[in-house]
Amino acid sequence: MAILNIIKEGDPLLRKHSRAVEEITPRITTLLDDMVETMRKANGCGLAAVQVGVLRRVVVIEVEEGTVYEMINPEIVFRAGVQEEQEGCLSVPEKWGITRRPARVTVRFTNREGTLCELRGEGLLARAICHEVDHLDGKLFTDVVIRYED
Ligand code: ZN
Repeated sequence: MAILNIIKEGDPLLRKHSRAVEEITPRITTLLDDMVETMRKANGCGLAAVQVGVLRRVVVIEVEEGTVYEMINPEIVFRAGVQEEQEGCLSVPEKWGITRRPARVTVRFTNREGTLCELRGEGLLARAICHEVDHLDGKLFTDVVIRYED
């Protein structure tokens, strides 16, 4: 496994759309391994492949220590309610802001074994899912922030 370099706000790659994964190759599973290691090393609770310079629809999330979700081609299929909570991003260091996100979401994705999965999340997990899926479409939390905090 390897620690990858996380690109930062201002890098044009962060504004690009990521491409769907069509086949789960060893390159993709290695990417997942490296992304989990990189996220943990950086003390983050989520990471999208574009943040390590790979324009593929792959994200990893760990909002509860020890429970890692690895999502290939994630798609949010249900949103309900509203939450306004603090958010940050490993690509936007030292900046935190309040965003408005759905309180609950359901995300559909493929796991590394190729199985189609569905996950329901609320609170922090729902925020993390929205945040990471936004990355795949070239969006940052700074685009949806309603106010910044010190
Ligand atoms: Zn982020």
